[in-house]
This record gives sequence, structure tokens and C-alpha cells, in this order.
Amino acid sequence: MRLFKPEEIDLKVGLEIHQQLNTPTKLFCRCKKFEEGFTNTMYRTLRPTQSELGKIDQAARFEFEKDLTIKYEIGEDSSCLVELDDEPPHPISMEAVKTSLIIALALNSDPINELHVMRKIVIDGSNTTGFQRTLIVSIGGELNTNNRSVPVQAIFLEEDAGRLLGESENRRNYGLDRLGVPLIEIALAPVTTTPKEIQEIAYALGRLMRSTRLVSRGLGTIRQDVNISILDGKVVEVKGVQRLDLLEKIISFEAMRQKNLIHLKDELTNRGLTPIDFQYKPIDITSLFQKNTSTILKKAFKKNMKIYAIKLKKFSGILSLEEFPGTRFGSELADVARFYGLGGLLHSDEIPGYGVTSIEVQKVRSKLHLDESDGFLLLSGEKGKLEKASEAVQKRVQSAFSGVPAETRGPTPDGKTRFIRPRPGSARMYPETDIPPITISSKLVNELKRNIPRPWEDQISEYISKYSLSRKLAIQVYDSSFIDIFEELSNTTNVSSSLIAATLTETVVNLSRAGLDTTILTADTIKSLFTALDNGIVSKEVIPQILELILKGDVKNVEGAIEKLGLTALTDEKLSALVNRIINKNKVLVDEKGIAAFSNLMGQVMSDARGRVDGQKVSDILKDELNKKIALNKE
Ligand SMILES: [Zn+2]
Repeated sequence: MRLFKPEEIDLKVGLEIHQQLNTPTKLFCRCKKFEEGFTNTMYRTLRPTQSELGKIDQAARFEFEKDLTIKYEIGEDSSCLVELDDEPPHPISMEAVKTSLIIALALNSDPINELHVMRKIVIDGSNTTGFQRTLIVSIGGELNTNNRSVPVQAIFLEEDAGRLLGESENRRNYGLDRLGVPLIEIALAPVTTTPKEIQEIAYALGRLMRSTRLVSRGLGTIRQDVNISILDGKVVEVKGVQRLDLLEKIISFEAMRQKNLIHLKDELTNRGLTPIDFQYKPIDITSLFQKNTSTILKKAFKKNMKIYAIKLKKFSGILSLEEFPGTRFGSELADVARFYGLGGLLHSDEIPGYGVTSIEVQKVRSKLHLDESDGFLLLSGEKGKLEKASEAVQKRVQSAFSGVPAETRGPTPDGKTRFIRPRPGSARMYPETDIPPITISSKLVNELKRNIPRPWEDQISEYISKYSLSRKLAIQVYDSSFIDIFEELSNTTNVSSSLIAATLTETVVNLSRAGLDTTILTADTIKSLFTALDNGIVSKEVIPQILELILKGDVKNVEGAIEKLGLTALTDEKLSALVNRIINKNKVLVDEKGIAAFSNLMGQVMSDARGRVDGQKVSDILKDELNKKIALNKE
């Protein structure tokens, strides 16, 4: 199969950006947004009533039928009876309303003059109530990037869902600390574009929001849903992209996957096939595999499960066709099987293999009356699940004839996407009766217009001149979650702003790349680190080491790290004494080379003084003492 390049593909992309607002409280109660640790738990079983389900589609219904138990983790400061759904919502946070309106106005979006809170059904247990509260705050508008203008469809204010902490077959675990945190959702109109341009658009929107200084920063505080379609294809939604820098890669992947699915459709048609060719009933072949050693199938026997085979007419070679390096149509089908609760599936292009012998493959082939050009699938699991999964997998094969199926996919850490579930019909909304409408007066709108932030670009320019930063460093620190602490330390210590900015961005990124969790770095730790530096207790050279010790959990705080590293600051006197000791020890070298001995001596002094005193100071004192010594020698 030929691989396409993104620029060959007619691509349409719509972005929906969800950004947490940095308000002191949640949207419908006065709880704090975050905290450290949970103190309580609560269990719920997902059992919605028929009326709540309404006309919900098959896939959503299946989610309900999974018999999920949901465990909620509760923190004392981050949740109250509202999150537990034991108390009606409190009045809306007007700060959140105002913030969302400021962002709306900055995008030239037209505020709605009476805001109505709605309930949107949530089917995954991420909300204790079974619905999410949302309100539309404005309509229309446009986002201007350097190169183009992108229309805004609408802007919403909504409550964030619980934070997914873990998941197993019949259980999901959510933290309630994130439930109810205000989110602004900006829906941009789909535009014909390239993957690279969409990434630029997402950056521009993120920057516009950060320029208000009213939104949260850092990983997990911004999430994008991306609707991607290509010519002749249906819309695929990729949900929950957290890393903006992966957006281009994800869209490129998805564009090529979709293009190649259309190519697959052509291939099936060329083979003279139609969807009607794929209506065979799955056949129970459990008895053929009694002596099988495949670990996948063995598990099936232990639990008294069944193995089904599905015939795929003239499918030889199709299942291993690559849509994109590393992904195959066979794995698309396996993802569908997984959604319906199976471990996956095996297909005829990959077995014999995976513990299935060629004799067994032959047995299956003759049982199904297959000829050389036919393919087949093997699925195993408990009978009920197996039947649903087989049907869904067969439907997925049939939908290959229409090219790209509409579905919801999720991002993978390496910038690809994978099937999560069929695309649900548009979510059912109904009014939230516990909260009266909120009137937005034109007086308020005019007041908020005065709070529209200066453009991000202007704020960066000011950063560069005010703090003497390079452009790169200015952008990095301005866009980071450390902006407030950076400004505070720059304004209250004598440490250079460049050093503070570089530590909070580059050093932290390096530590994170080394596998350390830098999100646990607190403002207090950063403050005491730079205070120690400002007071000459530590030198800048040991900053990475100190942070590493703290992030590894080897020490509790900066003081602990200083003690562990044996960093007691060198006083000027002790430093002079050390310098003179080294000079005397190297008398021969100094006599012979004079000032040229400097770098050698500097190395020796630093091996003792590193971390306890600033390098520049050592250099100054060493030069001084060395010159004195040389002068003495000449006399
Ligand atoms: Zn609360």
C-alpha cells in the first residue's frame, strides 16, 4: 500500500480547546481546585434509568452495560457535598463567568445576554451526577494568527470531569479534585488546513488565553479535541490531546490513516467484494483448540470461555496492509474487540504464530471452508461479550466499504491515534433546574472589555526588555506554569532573571526528560532554592543537583539537599586560604608558567569549592592571589 504525504491530502480540521481557568474556587462550589492527597473514598455503580438514556446509541448503551463500579477519591479541601452529589450546586463562580467573557471578547465573540446552565449526559462515570454542567457564553468571533483568520463557532463555560486515576475491566477510579474546576471550551470552525498550520492555530489560541493571566498553566490544564476529516471521509474525533507539540504529528498520522482507509476501500472493491459478502455468522471453534499452547487462548480455556472464528472472504493480505508504518487493518479490528471487553483478536495474516500452530490454522480453514484467498479472525472470551464483539467487528469490516468510519479515537504518547469507541450521537442536553439564568448586562460587558489583555506578542517584548531575557527564554518562562514565581523572584532577589528563567524552564525540562516528576516542584521549594543562592549559601552550579535530590525524594527540601551535598558555604577567608594552599602546592608550575598556570589552578580550586561558592568569585580571587605571587617572585 502506498503511503501518502500530508500535503497530498485534502484535510479539514476543527479544534475544540478546553482550558482550565485559574479561579480560586470551583464553578459551582467554593472548594479549592487542588490539594495534596485524598482522605476518603466513595463507591458508585453506574446504573442509569431508561429515561436518562433516552435515545442513546448502541455504543453508549454498551458502556452502561459493562457493570462498572466507580471508585471516587475524595480530598478534604478539594471536594464537598456538591462533588459528592449530596447537595445542589451553589451559585456559579462569577469570576469564572467574567474570565470566560474576557477571553470571548478578546476573540470578538458575541456574549449571550442571559446564560442558561444545561446538563450534558456523561456516560463514563467521570461525573458523580451522571451529567456535566455547561453554559454557552458567546457565539461567533475569530482567532487571528500570523497567517490567517479562523472563525470561532461558540464559547462555553463548563465544569471539568473527575480525574481518571486508574481503570480495570469492571472498575474505574476517579479523583474528585478536578471535578467542577471551571473550563472554558472554545470551538473553532473546521478549516481546510495542514497539520503544521493547525498546530500554529492551537498555539495562538493558547497564547491568547495565557495573555489574560487568568488561565491555569502546565500539562493537563489544556486539552484539545480535534475533529479530522479528509475528502470523501467521515469526521473522526481525536479526544483529549494534552500535548500541543504532538498535534501536528497526530493530525499527520490521522490524515494518512484515513487516506489509506479510502485506499483500502478501493482495494476491496477491486477484489469484487461488497458488504454483503461479510454477513457470515461467527462459528464456535472452541473444540478445535483443546490442545492449544497459545497463551492467549489458554487463558480462554481456564475461564471456560469460547473461541469464535469469522470468515473474511478474499481477505488474504488485507489484514496486514499498513495504513501507516506500524498500524494495520487487523489492529483496527482488534481495537474494536477490546472496546467490547475482549483482550483483542488474532487474524489469518499473523498466524501461524502467537502460539497457534499451522495444523490448527488448517483445521480452522477447513472447518470454515476457506480457500487460499480467504482470511479469518479468531476471537475468544465469555459468550455474551464474544457475541457482541463479533458483531461489532463484522460491522467494522463492512464499514471498510465506506472508507473512514466516524469514530472517537484517543492520542497515543508517540503521536498516533487509536480507537476508543464509535462516535456517539450528539450529546443530549437538558436544562439545569437548580440554577437560575445569569444575566449579563451591557454595563458588565463594557467593563470587561477594558480587561482585554494586550497581545501576547507585546507582553513577550516587555518581558525581554524588563528582565533582560533572550526571546526564547522569555517565551518559555512566560508560557510556563512558573510565571508568577519567576516574577516574584526576579523582583525580590539579586539573582539574575536569566538564571531564574533558565532554571524554571530548561533545567526543569531536563530533569523531567530524565524521568523525574517535576510537577511536584512547589513554589516554596523554588523560593528557598533561590533565597539560598541569593544569600551565597549555594552556587548556581549545584542547582540541578539540589532539584534532582528533592524530586527523587532523597531529601525533603532545599536545606536537606544542602546538608546531603555537604555544601556549607565557603566564606571569603576560607576561599582565600584554599586558593593560597593550591598555589603553594603548585609552586613549581607557578614559577615556570606564571599567569598561564591559571586554568590548571582554577580546576583544582573548583574541584574543592564547587557548589559552595560562585565560580566567578573563585576566578577573581585566584587571579588576584596569583598576580601577587608572581609579583613576589619577581622581587
Ligand atoms: Zn465542593
